Amino acid sequence: MDGNAPDPRYWEKMRLVAEVLKAVEGPIYIATHVDPDGDAIGSSLGLYRSLKALGKEAYWVAEPPRFLRFLPKEEEYSDPVDKLPVGATLVALDSAEPSRVVGVPVEGFVINIDHHGTNPRFGHIAVVDPSKAATAQMVKDLIDLLGVEWTAEIATPVLTGILTDTGNFRFANTTPEVLRVAAELVGYGVKLAELTDRLQFRPPSYFRLMGQVLSTVAFHFGGLLVTAHLPEEAKREEEDSDDFVGLIRYVEGSVVSVFLRKREEGVKVSIRSRGGVSAQNIALKLEGGGHVPAAGATLKDVDLDRAYELVLEAVAEELRRAGYL
Ligand code: 5GP
Ligand code: MN
Repeated sequence: MDGNAPDPRYWEKMRLVAEVLKAVEGPIYIATHVDPDGDAIGSSLGLYRSLKALGKEAYWVAEPPRFLRFLPKEEEYSDPVDKLPVGATLVALDSAEPSRVVGVPVEGFVINIDHHGTNPRFGHIAVVDPSKAATAQMVKDLIDLLGVEWTAEIATPVLTGILTDTGNFRFANTTPEVLRVAAELVGYGVKLAELTDRLQFRPPSYFRLMGQVLSTVAFHFGGLLVTAHLPEEAKREEEDSDDFVGLIRYVEGSVVSVFLRKREEGVKVSIRSRGGVSAQNIALKLEGGGHVPAAGATLKDVDLDRAYELVLEAVAEELRRAGYL
């Protein structure tokens, strides 16, 4: 089976999810992936607010990165839990693998809603549709099926997920349907200009860090690949370094960009591609996953030099497959 194919039973399964969530009387935990991005936070917060509006006992277990912390209110956070109570339901959002779910154990009745082609379709109900631009787009459908009344408070995080995963409607996943959904969400009172502006806010340290990262930019394979990394001495600013791959991906003539950062558990790599090259293939070779144009992996127990070697090998193989080498 092609993991990247749309789910032919999308609506049937989403209706089932809505029925299950409407019927549930026990606690519902909503969680998402480690290093949560705008889609992870936006889709999970949007669903959480919708379930609360339905009067459900819902818990939102997430730790938003700094640039998304303006979205939730203090009282909406729940602490991570080691064990779910008996009879709990878990909704895992935007999580390409069960091991990527953070803050809660993957147990109880598990509903997996995601758009990563590499998702192994874990859980009791798995709605995985890689043709969707964002998990937030899927959550939009679910909220409609739940019959919750749309408000700006619910529409804002949902639109945030769509904005971040489509690169503000610039990526190839921006279908007419995505634009229609976005238009509808804006109609519910989202302050679009304010939201997109706010989403770009970064602390002063980020801009200093950007200079350090840009000084590591290197070109490989005649410029087909551009790489950069977080300098060792800048590690404590790590939290702010999440979107640097988005900065280097616009080098003329490049088809792949990779950003590397050393962490305790290994080296995290973020990969972006275009022109028939698959970031997903590269990530899979490195035991990661993701989408065709945007994917990632964590290389365990290696230093930065070894990580570069592994990345170059994996990229070379994919460039050969795509006919560039
Ligand atoms: P980013 O580079 O922004 O961290 O991730 C790009 C995409 O790849 C995201 O959709 C993210 O969920 C996915 N991704 C990143 N790292 C991993 C990983 O280690 N494993 C898997 N399965 N997916 C990843
Ligand atoms: Mn996503």
